[in-house]
Amino acid sequence: MLTCKKSYRDIPFAHRQHLHDGHCALIHGHNWTITLTFACQETDANGFVVDFGKLSYLKDWITAHLDHACLFNEDDPAREPLLATHGALFKAYVLPNCSCEGLAQHLYEVFNPMVRQASNERAWITSVEIEEDSKNSAQFSN
Ligand SMILES: [Zn+2]
Repeated sequence: MLTCKKSYRDIPFAHRQHLHDGHCALIHGHNWTITLTFACQETDANGFVVDFGKLSYLKDWITAHLDHACLFNEDDPAREPLLATHGALFKAYVLPNCSCEGLAQHLYEVFNPMVRQASNERAWITSVEIEEDSKNSAQFSN
């Protein structure tokens, strides 16, 4: 199996962990890095796992859904009342869990089918690493 990686850096968005007993329960932001590891058994005609120049659909998805967004856990009880009264202040993105770990798993589930489709099932994603600023990270691998 061959692999390659691409990173999308310095993407600003916010989140909160409503069950946390500390400051992570407050809405706060980070500059995030998303690193995708792509894999294949057979390269394309250029010898590439994926063509880095043809991944704009991933960048476009990140820009549309995460850039300057506020991520909410789907079971966050404050989400609906907050968005009902102040929705114009948020580009909300809801997912099962917006921790680093939860985001890594979620983005795997979103991006892997996109990569498989774009490559006619020749390539796929094996890992998504999420970095919060420059200090904390988590990874989902399959
Ligand atoms: Zn955080």
